Amino acid sequence: MKEMILMTPGPTMVPEDVKKVAGAQPLHHRTEDFYELFSNLNKNLKEIFKTKNEVITLTSSGTGGMEAVIANLFSTGDKVLVASIGYFGERFYNIARAYGLDAELQDFGWGNAVDLDVLEDKLRNGNYKALLVTHNETSTGVTNNVKEIAKIANRYGVAIVVDAVSSLGGIPLEMDEWGIDAVITCSQKCLMSPPGLSFVALSERAWKMAETSNLPKYYFSLKKAREGVLKPNPDTPATPAVSTIMAVAKATNMLLELGLDNVYKRQADYGKRVREYIKSLGLELLPEEKIASDLITAIKVPEKYKASEIISHMKEKHGVLITGGQGPLKGKIIRIGHMGYVTEKMLTKTLEALKDAIDKEG
Ligand SMILES: *Cc1c(COP(=O)(O)O)cnc(C)c1O
Repeated sequence: MKEMILMTPGPTMVPEDVKKVAGAQPLHHRTEDFYELFSNLNKNLKEIFKTKNEVITLTSSGTGGMEAVIANLFSTGDKVLVASIGYFGERFYNIARAYGLDAELQDFGWGNAVDLDVLEDKLRNGNYKALLVTHNETSTGVTNNVKEIAKIANRYGVAIVVDAVSSLGGIPLEMDEWGIDAVITCSQKCLMSPPGLSFVALSERAWKMAETSNLPKYYFSLKKAREGVLKPNPDTPATPAVSTIMAVAKATNMLLELGLDNVYKRQADYGKRVREYIKSLGLELLPEEKIASDLITAIKVPEKYKASEIISHMKEKHGVLITGGQGPLKGKIIRIGHMGYVTEKMLTKTLEALKDAIDKEG
């Protein structure tokens, strides 16, 4: 099987050193070696989340982390506002509905960012317990201004929950400083690791909300998971995805050695480079440039091309995997993921493959 270059919004490429760790014999999760590794991971995660609160590791994909936050913070009928700008905003809304919350969807449109004035009006008049919002909307390649959104939520005493599944460890997010109540991410996007884990951090206010939540939870009980993390020999209530824990411990060591600011800077450079290249090919971005994500670029497919053909040409001829649009954007856009472990060589190869596909199809 030939190894593809995954320029997708997850799973992303995994560095050699992380692959080695992920492929090793899994540690037993009730041993000293595991406790030491898990302590190290927990320390790294706090640095990456920029929080002094505990970060909880759950064995699930990112969606499981979103579900855990809903199930642990809220009670039946709680009124929440979901500020959606695409596919993953709608997913958050659907999870909230599935758990019986009184969720309201405020759709700002696929390809737009959250409009801060509209949001402020809603929160001022709405009597919401919480605001749910996506940091980096992977379906449209748009990054929301979460710092400002959190300010507004805090102004009206509304708790703010952020889906940072495709952003944490790639672009700045300061959980404590910005006053965010819950942050969710996962292993297979910016954290350069295989799938299998989600990570959730809660503020003090959110842990208080968890005290009164009446929704059912067992495997995803964050309180129970926190008890494990707080032990002198930290562990998890059930068998975790040990291999992925080993991988993320290694990958987060690498990220922190590199320095988060350097990681952010490299991502910002990549984002800019991809956008410049797209424009030089005569193609258009889906969103306005000022809200365009540095982690994933969504490109409009002109009439004369077919998204599926561009994607399959890049895959078959160049071994580079990119993705198409979701929901209403299916067939209308292509998306290049450039989050996590992306080398200069991978990026250059991807842009050349795109040019070749455009030349050939056009
Ligand atoms: C990928 C992604 C998710 C879902 O993650 P899974 O790991 O596939 O469950 C949620 N939100 C955003 C913004 C994502 O990019």
